[in-house]
Amino acid sequence: MIAGFSYIRTKSVNEAISGLSQGNARLHAGGTDLLGCLRDQVFTTDMIVSISGLKELKGIRETPEGDLRIGALTTITEISESRIIRERYPALAQAASEVSSPQLRNQGTLGGNLCQKPRCWYYRGEFHCLRKGGEKCYAVAGENHYHCIFGGDRCYIVHPSDTAPALTAHKATVHIAGPAGQRKVPIDLFFVPPSKDVTKETVLEKGEIVTEIILPPPPRGATSSYRKVRARRSWDFAIAGVALELRMTGGNVTDVRIVLSGAAPIPWRSVDAEKALIGNVLDPDFIKRAAALSVKSAYPLKHNAYKIPLFRGMIEEELLKLSKS
Ligand SMILES: Cc1cc2nc3c(=O)[nH]c(=O)nc-3n(C[C@H](O)[C@H](O)[C@H](O)COP(=O)(O)OP(=O)(O)OC[C@H]3O[C@@H](n4cnc5c(N)ncnc54)[C@H](O)[C@@H]3O)c2cc1C
Ligand code: SF4
Repeated sequence: MIAGFSYIRTKSVNEAISGLSQGNARLHAGGTDLLGCLRDQVFTTDMIVSISGLKELKGIRETPEGDLRIGALTTITEISESRIIRERYPALAQAASEVSSPQLRNQGTLGGNLCQKPRCWYYRGEFHCLRKGGEKCYAVAGENHYHCIFGGDRCYIVHPSDTAPALTAHKATVHIAGPAGQRKVPIDLFFVPPSKDVTKETVLEKGEIVTEIILPPPPRGATSSYRKVRARRSWDFAIAGVALELRMTGGNVTDVRIVLSGAAPIPWRSVDAEKALIGNVLDPDFIKRAAALSVKSAYPLKHNAYKIPLFRGMIEEELLKLSKS
């Protein structure tokens, strides 16, 4: 049962910021994750501040400089169906089309997808774990089949978003508005690993709202893709996913980003593999070596070592595919 709360439907970003700055108010966009969290008592609230009617936070538009601005309230469906995103940022369009079900894609927003809460079943259940301010992590010695193999530190969640790794591959910037004004955060720095703060998922401070996500023009000649593996062939979160952006010049790799989902508490860049690929020809042997490098620093828990060969194989296949496109 959800405990009672008051509700305001704001008419401006400033009104939303001042509402959110009070007590334990929570922001509402599409509500697909927020309502589940309230129902499951992951957290409580005495006030919901809805931004769902704010037109200025909706839509996709190109700037004269060639950037693409995506309003935080743009739905996941709009992103997956946008012509310009499909043409220029295929990894993002593919990731959006892989998010849950059509109904949830129609209702869920990009801002909400980036700020959604983790899916660890202990966290979503009745366990007062570290991330909820408790004393211990229940997953580390428990049912950790779907937990992280990189970046765990006291907490072993995987970041649940499909769009976040694609936006990281595309070098997005997150625009934020809050009580202290506006700021821009490169997406690489937007998510907070447990080693920095085990109770936070993003750098957002009290009263802050994601207003839009900016994508720079893709590097000339770049290709990109997103591939996701689920436990079941219906809608589900990624147990492993790979977002890639690759640029080749004269047969050599000049720019590459490899970002994993279902791997770590934040979208996880395979920096060692990226470095190894730059300046080299993308032949099958080299791709194999890069894929092996990308899982070298993995440290699986008791039940999720299967993710290591899964990621290695996916990265190898996706690099091979992009090298031929
Ligand atoms: C059954 C199910 C399956 C799912 N499967 C997938 C999947 O396969 N892949 C995937 O990526 N996601 C999946 N999701 C998550 C879903 O995509 C998100 O719930 C959705 O994108 C959230 O958007 P929303 O607008 O509904 O956010 P809300 O539910 O309104 O908000 C989610 C959270 O983000 C905060 N928030 C929302 N907007 C902003 C903003 N602009 N600034 C700051 N904070 C904000 C809210 O306060 C809240 O804490 C699934 C969800 C469900 C329920
Ligand atoms: S993995 Fe994180 S969210 Fe899950 S039980 Fe452990 S501390 Fe809590």
